[in-house]
Amino acid sequence: MSQIELAQIQNFEGKYPKQIWSLFFSEMWERFCFYGMRGMLTYFMVDQLLMNDKVANLQYGATQAFVYAFTFIGGLFADKILGFRKSLFWGALLMITGSILLAINPKEWFFLGITFNIIGTGFFKPNISSMVGQLYKENDTRRDAGFLLFYSGINIGAFIGGYIIAIGKGTMFASFIPEALRWNFAFGASAVAMFISLLTFMLTKKSLGTIGLSPLLNLSQTKQKTYEYSVYIGALLVVPLVMLMVSNATYTDYFMYIIGPFSLLYFVFEMTKNNLEENKKLIAAFLFIIFSVIFWAIFEQAGGSLSLFAKDYVGDKLMGLTTDPNAVNNSFNALFVILFAPLIGIVFIALSKKKAEPNSIIKFGLAFLLLGLAFYTFYLLRFTAGEDGKSSLNIFALAYLVVTFGELFLSPIGLSLMTKLSPMRMQGFMMGMWFLASAYGQYVAGLFGASISPNENSSPTEKLTIYTTGYKDFALYAVIAGVLLIAISPFFKKLMGGVK
Ligand code: GLN
Repeated sequence: MSQIELAQIQNFEGKYPKQIWSLFFSEMWERFCFYGMRGMLTYFMVDQLLMNDKVANLQYGATQAFVYAFTFIGGLFADKILGFRKSLFWGALLMITGSILLAINPKEWFFLGITFNIIGTGFFKPNISSMVGQLYKENDTRRDAGFLLFYSGINIGAFIGGYIIAIGKGTMFASFIPEALRWNFAFGASAVAMFISLLTFMLTKKSLGTIGLSPLLNLSQTKQKTYEYSVYIGALLVVPLVMLMVSNATYTDYFMYIIGPFSLLYFVFEMTKNNLEENKKLIAAFLFIIFSVIFWAIFEQAGGSLSLFAKDYVGDKLMGLTTDPNAVNNSFNALFVILFAPLIGIVFIALSKKKAEPNSIIKFGLAFLLLGLAFYTFYLLRFTAGEDGKSSLNIFALAYLVVTFGELFLSPIGLSLMTKLSPMRMQGFMMGMWFLASAYGQYVAGLFGASISPNENSSPTEKLTIYTTGYKDFALYAVIAGVLLIAISPFFKKLMGGVK
C-alpha cells in the first residue's frame, strides 16, 4: 500500500480515525483475557494449588513483573524485526496457546500456561498501543483523546474479564458446568476472548495501510523469513527458562535487577545513533517513564494492601445498598475509567480547539496531585470507622473515583507521549520501556505494601491506624512528585521541542 493511504488514514475528519475501532476491540478482548487470568491467579493458587497466602502473593507479584518486563522485549523485536502487526499476531497465538493449556489442565500446566501468556502479552501489548499512535500525524492534537478512547476499551475488557473468576468459583453458570470442570471453563473463556481479539485484528488489518509492517521489507524474502522465524523459535526456546524463573519468586528479583540496567544501556546505545533534537525528546520520554514508576508504585496498592484493607476495614454499604467491598476495590476503577475517559477526551478536544489544553507535563503533575488527594481520602477513612472497626464504603469508592481521574491524566497520556517523543525506529522499544516502568511500579508497590503491613499481634484499631498512616505518607509522596513535575515543567518543555 502506498504512502498516500497512510496520509488518508491520518487526514481523517471528526474526533477519531476510524481504524482506532479495530484496535480498540482487539485490545478490549486481549485485556479481557489478561485481566480475566490475572483475577484468577492468586485465588487459584491458594484454592486449587494449595499454596499459602504469602507464597501466592509473591508468585502473583512475580507474574505481573514478568508480564510488563516482557513488553520491553516484545517492543524491541517489533522495531527491529517483526513490525507491530506480526508481533501482535504472534503474541496473540502465544496467549491463545497459554490459555488453552490452562483450560485443558489448569493444575498440572499452570506455570507453563502462564509462561506462554507472559511472553505473548510481551509481543502484543506494547505494539498495539504503538499502532494507535501511528494513526495520527505528528502534531495532531486529537491524539490524547484517541488514547483515552483506547483506554476505555482496555477497561471494558478488564471489567468484564474480572468476572470470569466467578465461573471457576462456581458462583456463575454453576448449573451448566460440572463442578470438576469449572476452572477449565474459566480459563477456556480467556482463550476464547483472545481468539476473538486475534480475529478482530485479522479481519480489519487491511484498513491499516502501511502501519505496522515489518521494518525489514527492503531485505530479500529469505533473509526476512530467517530473522522472523528466529524470533519465533527463540520465543519458544525461552519458555522453559521463563517458566523456571516465574515459578520461583527469588529468580524474579534477579531478573528485575538485570532487565532495568540492561534496558538503560540499550537506550543509551540507541541514543548514540540519533541527532540532538531526537535525544532531547527521548530524555523527556525517559523522565516521564521514571515518574510513572512512582505513580504505579502507589496506584498498584489496589491489588495488594488496599484489597486486604477492604477485606477487614471497609463496610459493605454503598449508597444504602449492600455490596462486597472487595468487589468495589477490584472493579470500580475500571468502571470509572469507562464512564469518564470519553468525557475527558471530549473536554481535551474542546480545550485544544480553544488553544487552552494543558500540556502533558501539567497533566502528569495533576495526575500526581489527584493521586495524593485520593490517598489522603483513604487516610481519612480511619475517621469514619464505626464500633465494628469498619470504615465507610462510600468514601472508599469516592477515593477510587479520584484515583481514576489521576490515572486518566497519566496512563493514556503516557502512551500517547511515547508515540510522540520517539523516533519511528524506536517506537516499539520506548512503548516497551513505558510498560517496563509498570513492571518496576508493581514491584515497588509490593515493597510499599509490605512496609505498611501491620504485624499479626496488632489490635484491629492499631492495624487500621498503621494502614491509614501509610496511605497518608503515600499521599505526601504523590504530592511532592506532582509539585516537582510542575516546578520543572519549563525545563521539561524545552526538552520536548514542539511536542505538547
Ligand atoms: N490498566 C492499564 C492497562 O492494562 C495500564 C496498565 C499499566 O501500565 N500498568 O493497559
